[in-house]
Amino acid sequence: MQLHRYLTCFNTKDIPTEVVDTVIVGSGLAGLSTAYYLLKLGIKPLIITKKKPGVSNSFLAQGGIAAAVGCQDSTDLHYQDTINAGKGLCIERNVRILVEEGLERVIDLINLGVNFDKDEKNFLKLTREGAHSINRVLHSKDRTGYEIGKKLLEQIKDSVFLADNYYLEEILTDEDSYIGILLSDGKEQKVVRSKSLVLATGGYSGVYLRNTSAYNVSGDSIASAYRAGCSLMDLEFIQFHPTAVYIEGKPGWLISEAVRGEGAVLVDENGERFVDELKPRDEVARAILKKYQEGHKVFLDITPLIEKGIDFKERFPNIYNILKEFGIENQTKIPVSPSAHYTIGGIKANLDGRTDIKGIFAVGETACTGVHGANRLASNSLLECIVSGYKTAYNVYINNICSKINYTDISNDNDAKKHMEKVEREERKRSQEKTACTRSKRDEV
Ligand SMILES: Cc1cc2nc3c(=O)[nH]c(=O)nc-3n(C[C@H](O)[C@H](O)[C@H](O)COP(=O)(O)OP(=O)(O)OC[C@H]3O[C@@H](n4cnc5c(N)ncnc54)[C@H](O)[C@@H]3O)c2cc1C
Repeated sequence: MQLHRYLTCFNTKDIPTEVVDTVIVGSGLAGLSTAYYLLKLGIKPLIITKKKPGVSNSFLAQGGIAAAVGCQDSTDLHYQDTINAGKGLCIERNVRILVEEGLERVIDLINLGVNFDKDEKNFLKLTREGAHSINRVLHSKDRTGYEIGKKLLEQIKDSVFLADNYYLEEILTDEDSYIGILLSDGKEQKVVRSKSLVLATGGYSGVYLRNTSAYNVSGDSIASAYRAGCSLMDLEFIQFHPTAVYIEGKPGWLISEAVRGEGAVLVDENGERFVDELKPRDEVARAILKKYQEGHKVFLDITPLIEKGIDFKERFPNIYNILKEFGIENQTKIPVSPSAHYTIGGIKANLDGRTDIKGIFAVGETACTGVHGANRLASNSLLECIVSGYKTAYNVYINNICSKINYTDISNDNDAKKHMEKVEREERKRSQEKTACTRSKRDEV
């Protein structure tokens, strides 16, 4: 038994214990969609979440969700754009699943009543984002994540067990088998035993000084999964979004790529353009960084968008309010710079959530399924949450049919005590060495 791997002191015998079939950690789109499809399969999950449901990156998502629904579009084209943006490092089989099953899942969302923007003829309005060769991003103004999340939450909230303001501290395993989790609300611990654990806990771009992330999403459960024996993958790939508001000392709120998709351009302080604004994110972010390194300033100029007759406040009400908070809502040139935005790497998993440890599933940004390669194509992330949530629900169902709940007790008290004794021993040894070293130096003098 690998007791030394836990960071927390506990003895499960002394901690109140709950037993459920399936526990989902996280209430962003990945967690909510998994719960939605689990309920359809007759499994009532327990959702654990830091803060309230809705406090997540999913609910901040502005631009939209990509799917090849347009008349001129095809899943082949969406596949190719994803592969190109991923710089040759995508897992091709998974990209194929993402774009093809993504179509079906987006239809699920439409049937759920998600209010995607439509034109006067009632056709879906599709916008463009960087590295897409065609307009293919469905959106609800600039609050797409909120609209989808709200609909999913409405569907499930009366049917699931929900424990908010709890956070996952440890994933408990016996040998290499998953047996439960240890939670805390900051005061008291709790153990939950289950057959399946779904980690839908988001990424860790929030640990960067300049980031666009919700404050409660920090990647801590990726570390818990690693300690439990799950492999991690591609951790070095963090996506920097090119355009976050840049005012010194203020947080870098995101200005969606859809603003560029609708016509806004990037200029320096002389009004000169220096990059094709709809290139992949890494290329645009690097071009902006280079400008700053050369001593220039960079702005997102929304004049072309206004000249096209687009009412900025109407099309991007959320971004307008962000600019208002900074007092720059009437400026046509918005100061911007890149900001840490998305975790491409994470817990190694398949699109059906499977990780290296049976019973532990990873979905959404917390997982690394290889669909983004080295650079995520814009608006493919919400799509991955829904596609993977659906497939994971089925896999959890299968896992639950053939698994038992494990009641082995785990204690880390002795281990923690032993660890402290070892630290003290080493500390004593170091201070003796220091004294010996000082003496010998003095002797030399
Ligand atoms: C500002 C912004 C705009 C974006 N716009 C778009 C867009 O337009 N299109 C697109 O495709 N993508 C977009 N993205 C990316 C996308 O929103 C995310 O990748 C996606 O929503 C991740 O969903 P998730 O469910 O995996 O994680 P999240 O939505 O981040 O949710 C994580 C959940 O896990 C919980 N949690 C974390 N750790 C613990 C723990 N230890 N214990 C308990 N709970 C825990 C959190 O409380 C939260 O509920 C955007 C991201 C940001 C930040």
